[in-house]
Amino acid sequence: MHLADLLSLRTVPAAGVLVSLTDRCPLSCAHCSTSSNRGAPQFGEEPFLAFSGTWTDESHPEVVFLSGGEPLLRPGLVRRLAARGRACGAATAVLSGMYFCRSGGIPPPIERAIRAVDHFSASIDVFHEREVPRTDVFAALHTVRSWGVEVSLHTVGARGHDPYLRDLVDRIRDEFDSEVPVLVASLRSAGRAAEWAPRHDDVLSVGPCEFASWPLIDSDGTIFACCQGSMLRRLRPPHLVLGNAADTAWRTVRDRVLTSPHLRSVRTIGPIGTASAAGLRDSGGICGTCVGLDSAESLPSDRFLTSAERLVPAIPARTLAARWGAGPYADAVEWGRSR
Ligand code: SF4
Repeated sequence: MHLADLLSLRTVPAAGVLVSLTDRCPLSCAHCSTSSNRGAPQFGEEPFLAFSGTWTDESHPEVVFLSGGEPLLRPGLVRRLAARGRACGAATAVLSGMYFCRSGGIPPPIERAIRAVDHFSASIDVFHEREVPRTDVFAALHTVRSWGVEVSLHTVGARGHDPYLRDLVDRIRDEFDSEVPVLVASLRSAGRAAEWAPRHDDVLSVGPCEFASWPLIDSDGTIFACCQGSMLRRLRPPHLVLGNAADTAWRTVRDRVLTSPHLRSVRTIGPIGTASAAGLRDSGGICGTCVGLDSAESLPSDRFLTSAERLVPAIPARTLAARWGAGPYADAVEWGRSR
């Protein structure tokens, strides 16, 4: 599966599911949005396996996106989830910080996990490069490509002119002959970067929130409505908690994503519009307002939301990349697509 195909499903409600396999990570990148570290909690495999056991030929996510922490600290679990997905028609993607390639080569358990997935993404940016050399990441990606697995690179940078980003994207293009797509996003003021990175609330536009489309299975099995795991873990607003992977089937999660009036409204008129229609005040930024919608006594009617849903366009991959801050590099998500 190509990165652009994956991204083009990212705004389709319930087309995919994000799965955070662990909070642990052997790296300590200064910008880590999940504040992952070596000693962070890691829960049992059971909720993930139980949840994947509810995927069927008729009802399964189209994409299962595995992340963390560092998901490849659990290569056996990655392999089992990917096998389960493949058996019923779900594609699996995994995003790694590439800790394992610092010693050169790819250890056999990790090779087996990577060979099992349909898309392999590596993080690379100025912070990761302090932990894992660029040359090791490139060498590992050449190896993964030789196995026939689609790959991509995910990077972040400052908004506006960022010489590091310019150099990196040029180097990736030259190293892989424009065959490996790159997703460039703006640095987020979250996790370890919360105290020093500039806030860009407009990354989440004041309009519809595309992040309310795919649920997140958090590392302890809690199912949240969107990818803002750290905040939702802390606040647990009932309208954004969809269940627990240990005992909630995919079919139920999908129904909740598709039918929740809160989520339908956030996806169509956005959290600010929804709060305004409900007579609520802005309660601190876009996500803060969204969390506060739990107290909304009235939400737009089913009829209104059905009409509004017809007006929300599908977002092409490069448009989505541009919204996330790719700027002049938005086209890089398409590199290698016709290969
Ligand atoms: S909390 Fe609400 S506004 Fe923020 S990303 Fe999640 S769904 Fe979107």
